[in-house]
Amino acid sequence: MNRPPLAPDLLARFAALVGPGGALTAAEDVASFVEEPRGRWPGRTALVLRPATTAEVAAILKLADETKTPIVPQGGNTGLVGGQTPDRTGGQIVLSLARLNRIREIDPVSATMTVEAGCVLATIRQAADAAGLLFPLSLASEGSCQIGGNLSSNAGGVAALSHGVARDLCLGLEAVLPGGAVLDDLRKLKKDNTGYDLKNLFIGAEGTLGIITAAVLKLAPKPMGRAVAWIGLASPEKALALFRRVSAAAGPALVSFELIADRPLQFGLNHAPALVRPLAGDHDWHVLMEIAALTDERATRDHAEALLAAAADAGELEDAVLAQSETQARALWTIRETFPEKQKAEGASIKHDISVPVAAIPAFIEKAGAQVARIAPGSRLVCFGHMGDGNLHFNVSQPEPGDPADFMAREGAMHAAVHAVARAFGGSISAEHGIGRMKRDELAAMKSPVALDLMRRIKAAFDPNGIMNPGKVM
Ligand SMILES: Cc1cc2nc3c(=O)[nH]c(=O)nc-3n(C[C@H](O)[C@H](O)[C@H](O)COP(=O)(O)OP(=O)(O)OC[C@H]3O[C@@H](n4cnc5c(N)ncnc54)[C@H](O)[C@@H]3O)c2cc1C
Repeated sequence: MNRPPLAPDLLARFAALVGPGGALTAAEDVASFVEEPRGRWPGRTALVLRPATTAEVAAILKLADETKTPIVPQGGNTGLVGGQTPDRTGGQIVLSLARLNRIREIDPVSATMTVEAGCVLATIRQAADAAGLLFPLSLASEGSCQIGGNLSSNAGGVAALSHGVARDLCLGLEAVLPGGAVLDDLRKLKKDNTGYDLKNLFIGAEGTLGIITAAVLKLAPKPMGRAVAWIGLASPEKALALFRRVSAAAGPALVSFELIADRPLQFGLNHAPALVRPLAGDHDWHVLMEIAALTDERATRDHAEALLAAAADAGELEDAVLAQSETQARALWTIRETFPEKQKAEGASIKHDISVPVAAIPAFIEKAGAQVARIAPGSRLVCFGHMGDGNLHFNVSQPEPGDPADFMAREGAMHAAVHAVARAFGGSISAEHGIGRMKRDELAAMKSPVALDLMRRIKAAFDPNGIMNPGKVM
């Protein structure tokens, strides 16, 4: 889109709304706000606004609506679909929530925490822990991502199996609409059947309807400990059999069930010298599993050990190790958290974030793997993900040796083919990362005409002048 640069006097009017330190204009100051983690959609902006209060956000959106100035909300800038950065025109303003970062209240009796949108996820988790409770949303990016971004992208992460996704952990919301009106829906209620659930429209909207400024989060009891196991097995079918066994026995205490092909582990070992192979032998597939100790940690570990022994007897697994201490448990999780990043060192990559019904995971891997081999012969499948949620990061690295440009030229065809397989299983092309600009053009194939029409009408009702994150999602 050809958008004229923003006039200096308009930029000055916006800057005046946030006071000293709240507006960044120098190229070196705005640089980190215009590039996202994968460096795929470099953008430009003349102004980054960093409001410190909801009132300042409201004043910004009022002026933006009056002047039809596009606003790109940004949290921790860890999103993986290019939703949080401006386009290349320089005509969009970035609104960073980083300074809106107070924990307003922890209510240990109601088990809720009221936080501002810019609170970093790890800070929220630490605050809940200090209060003797758990905020279960957990992502490898939690040291940087912010709760406003988590809610706007409806993040999933490694504990969604037991606790649900970001949407399930939010009881109330405060949001600012284009025009500056503030929706104060900061309730702590589990039950509230009073008409349309407006907060849920902002969750997962990726900043296209308004700005989330605060939220009431649902806290859980803190487990007494955990049983964490790394398991080597022969195939996704075996992993599915193990998942059925463990989920039937552990129920909601099964927090994570992560499926990992050997290649991503190998990439991690190649490029992170501190990592060590968790099991002595080689295995084609791995599972990282965590069961929460709701009563006694020793008893939970014994239970997990018995489950693994039974699974070994049934031929579901080849080998397994159960962490004997919190240090060992953390070391196993570090392996899982480190290797996605290490894929970069293996050259160009094409990534998918799909979900299918859990039962279809093995068939999906087989059919989508055949499509990948057809479209990019010699490419390397780097499959891992939250199998218990039916969510795989079905990534592909370029052939080695190979030409990165030639490989990336196949990206569109590969996305189309892999996503078609996911859809054939009744799955989704975006399980947890969102649509952003990366998958915007594929949305029409995912949604029925009726659903698309409703989405367009909701967008028009909330944001008639189209100032909120234009070019993203729709
Ligand atoms: C190493 C790594 C691991 C990851 N692991 C996971 C994972 O396991 N599960 C998962 O779901 N994601 C994962 N992600 C993706 C990412 O961390 C999540 O999408 C996260 O929720 C984004 O939060 P953020 O604060 O960084 O948001 P941003 O990236 O800044 O923004 C994301 C979207 O939300 C909008 N937005 C941000 N804040 C607001 C607000 N206050 N109001 C309105 N709109 C807003 C932005 O415009 C954008 O569209 C991972 C990313 C990395 C880099």
